[in-house]
Amino acid sequence: MEFSSKLLERAVNEMSQLPGIGKRTALRLVLHMLRQPKEQTVILSEALQAMRNDVKFCKSCYNISDQDLCEICASPNRNETIVCIVEDIKDVMAIENTSSFKGLYHVLGGKISPMDGIGPHDLNIESLVSKVKEGKINELIFALSSTMEGDTTNFYIYKQIQEYQIFTSTIARGISVGDELEYADEITLGRSIVNRIPFESSLKL
Ligand SMILES: [Zn+2]
Repeated sequence: MEFSSKLLERAVNEMSQLPGIGKRTALRLVLHMLRQPKEQTVILSEALQAMRNDVKFCKSCYNISDQDLCEICASPNRNETIVCIVEDIKDVMAIENTSSFKGLYHVLGGKISPMDGIGPHDLNIESLVSKVKEGKINELIFALSSTMEGDTTNFYIYKQIQEYQIFTSTIARGISVGDELEYADEITLGRSIVNRIPFESSLKL
C-alpha cells in the first residue's frame, strides 16, 4: 500500500495492529476520521487513553472495574458463596447478559497452555484457592471453554481444592467441544448455567 503521507501511513499501521483490522479497513477508518470534525478524533483518543490509564481490575475477582471492587463483587444482591470460574472478562460479560447467574466470578486471565508458555502461576489461581481455604465458598462452577487447555485448567484447579469439602460443578453446554464460551448464544448459555452438572461427572465422560 502506497501512502502520500507518512502521517497517514503511521495511523493506518497503528490501527491495523488491532485484531480483525486489516490494512484496508484501517485505511477506511482513518479516512473516515479525517472527514469527521477534529474533535471526534480527540474524544476517541482521550477515551482510549483514559481507559488504558485508569481502568482497574477488581481486587477480589479480577473483573475489569472502575473501583477497587467491581460492581458485581460490591453488590449486596449477589450470592458470594457461589463462584463461577471463567477465563477472561468477555466471559463475565457473556454470562451477565444471560441474567441467569447471581453468584460471583473469578477471572483467571487465561488458561493453562504449555504450548504458549502459560503455566498455573501466570493465572489468578492462587487467590481462588485462598478463597476456598478461607471457607468463603460453597460452590465453584467451572465455566471455561471446553478445549484441551480449558479441561487441563479445570482439572488443575479441581486438584488444588479437592480436599476442601465444597461442591464443584461445570456448566452443561449444548455446544460442541472447542467452542468458546463467548460465542454461545445467551439462551443456551443461561440454560447451561442453571442446569449445571457436578464436576466429577464431567470427568467420566
Ligand atoms: Zn469483582
